[in-house]
Amino acid sequence: MFDTGYSYLLSLIEEGIFVLDGRCQILYMNQAAARIFNVIADKTRNMSFIEAVRDYECDALVKKCINTGVPQTASIKIRGKNQYLDLKVCPDTENRSYIVIVKDLSEKRHLEEIRRDFISNVSHEFRTPISSIKLIAETLADGAPIDSEVYKDFLQKINVEADKLAHMTDELTELSRLENNEPALIKDTLSIGALVGQVVQRLQAQSDKKGLRLNLDIAPDLPDPVIDQYRIEQVLLNIIHNAIKFTDPGGSISISIKQQGSEVLFVVRDTGIGIPADELSRIFERFYKVNKARDDEGTGLGLAISRHIITAHGGKIWVESVEGKGSTFFFTLPIGS
Ligand code: ADP
Repeated sequence: MFDTGYSYLLSLIEEGIFVLDGRCQILYMNQAAARIFNVIADKTRNMSFIEAVRDYECDALVKKCINTGVPQTASIKIRGKNQYLDLKVCPDTENRSYIVIVKDLSEKRHLEEIRRDFISNVSHEFRTPISSIKLIAETLADGAPIDSEVYKDFLQKINVEADKLAHMTDELTELSRLENNEPALIKDTLSIGALVGQVVQRLQAQSDKKGLRLNLDIAPDLPDPVIDQYRIEQVLLNIIHNAIKFTDPGGSISISIKQQGSEVLFVVRDTGIGIPADELSRIFERFYKVNKARDDEGTGLGLAISRHIITAHGGKIWVESVEGKGSTFFFTLPIGS
């Protein structure tokens, strides 16, 4: 029988550990192994390895070690799951048992994927304005005579593309600062009504130009949360600006703010184009845009920045939407934190 004298020590280890007999029956498994394979550690007595792990590749590796007496290692992706494991199986000749060590690499792989996507998105977003500027420079360098109107148009295009690059760089810097929590939030108790009023005033002209109705409803006696004014202004500007951008002329946008328990709840509802259900969970990701071709002015960074700001305040942010009918963005801010 496997001596469990070290079971406390083994329970502290991050790697999953199994001790098996020569018939692949489990003699012992630690908590990490139970967590990785989603089984209850106490219920594995008389259970075989395959019953616990439910994966034939893992089982085959163990059997190979038992049959050959040679230690085995393999990287295995669990079928039907997004789980990547490193397995090592060693014979323990003295105890006539076999030790299986399992490292769960899923989280690491997931982070690597996010990093890869991020780099490819940054390159993609920067490439378009750079190509436009380069094309204009090449045309000018050609030396062919150019009409003064075309020349002016070229200069304006260079300006617009340079602005896009500058805007993207600013947003990326802001995102990276927020991720590193620097500078920390500058919190103050502020009249939330006045703050929202200012933001709405700034966006009113844009909304009027598109023929949209912009309604503001602030509950009376609203308590003022402790917030970083500049950052919350950024969130409101981004969400309301998106609502204007993605709502067709004749539509409406309503902003309401009220107290809900120990929080202030902000709701921005539009009657715009909406967001497909399968993309709702992704729009807070860096660079995510539902339709990259439709709106080339946005960077896809605004909501990622907003989510950081709201969570740094201890609040939550989420969205509900019906494609073709409109979207509603919600966020909360705790009162007095
Ligand atoms: P962007 O700068 O592209 O607006 P955001 O991060 O603010 O970046 O938004 C990401 C994407 O989410 C947008 O490109 C758009 O596809 C979608 N989106 C955001 N707000 C709305 C809205 N009110 N209605 C429809 N789609 C929206």
